[in-house]
Amino acid sequence: MKDLAAVERVSRAELTRLQLGRLQECVARAAARVPLYRERLRQAGASANDIRSLDDLKRLPFTAKSDFRDTYPFGMLAVPMDEIVRIHASSGTTGKPTVVAYTRGDLQTWSEVMARTVMAGGVGPGDVVQNAYGYGLFTGGLGFHYGAELVGAAVIPISGGFTERQLLALRDFGSTVLCATPSYGLHLAEAVEEAGIDPKTLKLRVGFFGAEPWTEGMRRALESRLNLMALNTYGISEVMGPGVSVECSERRGMHVAEDHFLAEIVDPATLQPVARGVQGELVITTLTKEALPLIRYRTRDLTSMDPEPCACGRVLVRIGRITGRTDDMLIIRGVNVYPSQVEHALTQVAGVEPHYLLVIRRADMLDSLEVRVEATAAVAAAGPDAMRGIAAQAKRKLHEVIGLTADVDVVPPKTIERSIGKAKRVEDLRPRD
Ligand code: AMP
Ligand code: ZN
Repeated sequence: MKDLAAVERVSRAELTRLQLGRLQECVARAAARVPLYRERLRQAGASANDIRSLDDLKRLPFTAKSDFRDTYPFGMLAVPMDEIVRIHASSGTTGKPTVVAYTRGDLQTWSEVMARTVMAGGVGPGDVVQNAYGYGLFTGGLGFHYGAELVGAAVIPISGGFTERQLLALRDFGSTVLCATPSYGLHLAEAVEEAGIDPKTLKLRVGFFGAEPWTEGMRRALESRLNLMALNTYGISEVMGPGVSVECSERRGMHVAEDHFLAEIVDPATLQPVARGVQGELVITTLTKEALPLIRYRTRDLTSMDPEPCACGRVLVRIGRITGRTDDMLIIRGVNVYPSQVEHALTQVAGVEPHYLLVIRRADMLDSLEVRVEATAAVAAAGPDAMRGIAAQAKRKLHEVIGLTADVDVVPPKTIERSIGKAKRVEDLRPRD
């Protein structure tokens, strides 16, 4: 098998050359095949021919999540449907999801960057990978699955949840690798303790945690309670899914797979590049994507970039932990949720008013979402049974729209606090560390 990770150790000059050629191709391809890019590049007066150095990236227009919404479902694709072999989706800002698609070539690239992700934790033949990321429209499950298979590890496609079964696999199948959201990882750690299992008797060696914000405190807890090395992995569906960047065993920032993804950090207000090391919004340009090339995609994630060489010897730049977002997206049990989606769902339920509050809690390391919403005067007058009936309807609608089960509390009219100015829609009570 070819050495997939060789590119991570080439010289900066060689990497730059590779990136530049790929960037020119990507822009030419996007302009030729995606009307949105053709128009936007025309407006910006930019074309592939103008790109002489990576610095010329600055002249290219940005892409945003709203572009997916405006061209829903397939308007961003650069290939016809008969070249698409996979479709995934993530939450959009309203009722409609953000749809992403892959050609066979894209799946190959994705498998390779995911193989490199798990290789960063030393995973290979002989390893047993318990993949507790969700399988389905979410990119996490299948992304890790293909990468772990490519390096020759044995994959347990257990998906998220069913904690008893996770414990059984950990114990009886001898999992050496755990892939999970950090909150679910901690939930498993607790379950291990409650089951009276000494983590030292498990074979776990390394865990890949991502898809939601977490902290160094959580890392310490995961490492000591599961007796493994916890690595941070970052990805985003629009760009690919997981595989965009991962920590090496130095655990000092996540190396970006720069041969496929060109990363910039910009000031979210001015959209100008920030000085090295300064926090800003992560912007990614895909260099090799066939189905869904993205030029300067605004991820909305806040982080900083460290171009200093890493002790591991990789040439790839590192991004720091994601410290927040420039929009109001929440991640609840690994699911992306925008308050606007909740509002969208509630407006489709007769009998409630658009006065609502999302309350997010964490108990036993698991997130829960409560949606408090006001009944109309008529429903309130009809009594508690009517209010409960409406709550059940709202719960179903919310599940349909955001893909999460929420506890819906229908409250009497005018009981949710009104604010002067910006409404307060979210009360996030989860511990920060
Ligand atoms: P999705 O497209 O559903 O996979 O969600 C992508 C989003 O998940 C990103 O834009 C981030 O906000 C979040 N995310 C992914 N990985 C991480 C990570 N390691 N740390 C913090 N947030 C993350
Ligand atoms: Zn490193």
